Amino acid sequence: MKNRKLLMIPGPIEFEPEVLRAMGVQTASHVAPNFIKVFGNCLNAMKKVWLAPHGQPFIVSGSGTLAMDMAAANLIEHGDNALVISSGYFGDRFKDILDRYGANTTILSTEIGGDIALEIIERELKNKKYKLLTMTHVDTSTGVLINPEPIAALAKKYNVISVLDGVCSVAGEEIRQEEWGVDIVLTASQKAIGVPPGLALLVASQDAIDIWKGRKTPVSNYYADWQNWLPIMKAYQEGSPSYFGTPPVNLINALEKSLTLILEEGIPKRIKRHQKLAMDFRKAIQSIGLSILPKTDSIAANTLTAIYYPQGISGGDFLSGMTGNDIILAGGLHPKIKTTYFRVGHMGSVSENDLIAVLSALERVLYKLNYKFELGTSLRVFEEECVK
Ligand code: PMP
Repeated sequence: MKNRKLLMIPGPIEFEPEVLRAMGVQTASHVAPNFIKVFGNCLNAMKKVWLAPHGQPFIVSGSGTLAMDMAAANLIEHGDNALVISSGYFGDRFKDILDRYGANTTILSTEIGGDIALEIIERELKNKKYKLLTMTHVDTSTGVLINPEPIAALAKKYNVISVLDGVCSVAGEEIRQEEWGVDIVLTASQKAIGVPPGLALLVASQDAIDIWKGRKTPVSNYYADWQNWLPIMKAYQEGSPSYFGTPPVNLINALEKSLTLILEEGIPKRIKRHQKLAMDFRKAIQSIGLSILPKTDSIAANTLTAIYYPQGISGGDFLSGMTGNDIILAGGLHPKIKTTYFRVGHMGSVSENDLIAVLSALERVLYKLNYKFELGTSLRVFEEECVK
């Protein structure tokens, strides 16, 4: 017995051994020349992963929520109109953050598991002059994937800053920040970026930086203020020492390694790998009569799958059964339906073998809980899809 559990939640994920080894080296001074180089490499690599060659990257110690906070704190002034397009729990969180900085926030919520028509968004943008809009690429609470490209185009048309919460998508779903004209794309380290929790990562367009520069009032969050961080990022990009708050040196070593691995795999190939694995996994799940939370496969995320428990199966029994079989999954998160579904993360270094392990344990657990299906079906379907 190796007594090893497979972590298959939508972040933190399982990390590459090389990334973990990079974290374990002796901690350097944050102003040592070798560390300055590592930090600079990370900033340059982020521009490549985000496909934002002219963007301004920020790496700050914190979680994804800090990256959301940083976007709101720097771009919102009291009384500004903000539009939140919400496909779940994390969209709703953006409203709370924006409200905290005095925004006048309107929220357009999708029905649970659905997406929102572009016409509805355009009608709202026509109706009222907004300064900023936010959208959640993959809402981790529902597993719904939206298409940011046409929404960012609408934002441009109406002269609105667009912010993409890419916490559950960057390096797993297709993002072309500059081509699509998204002003801010933010994420956290523990998901498809493949680094243990602790880094808030954000790339801002020049337009977003200019809007921040033109503020009439100071940023009301001291730690998140770009006034403090922009000179630091610029210094690291230029290879010179600088200090505002001590960076998490070891996490940044790990980030350099992970971004290198991501770029070695190549973004298009990596995105296709995520798409194929997710599609094959959905087919396998559906083959034994389970249904996914997103209303259609076309809006189902490629980084995680949210799946309803079958009728009569208790979520608690199912999840503890999975843990007993060494597979850690996540329960539901959307407050309105959280006890009715579970979530499987499949991003970053996830492999076909990992998903076979999940399906195998899932079949055994459901079988023991008296769910009626033919044992082996989802595994056969998954393997048939994998070899196509
Ligand atoms: N947005 C999305 C889409 C997320 O999935 C998460 C984390 N699950 C967050 C924001 C918040 O990130 P963190 O937990 O790192 O603060």
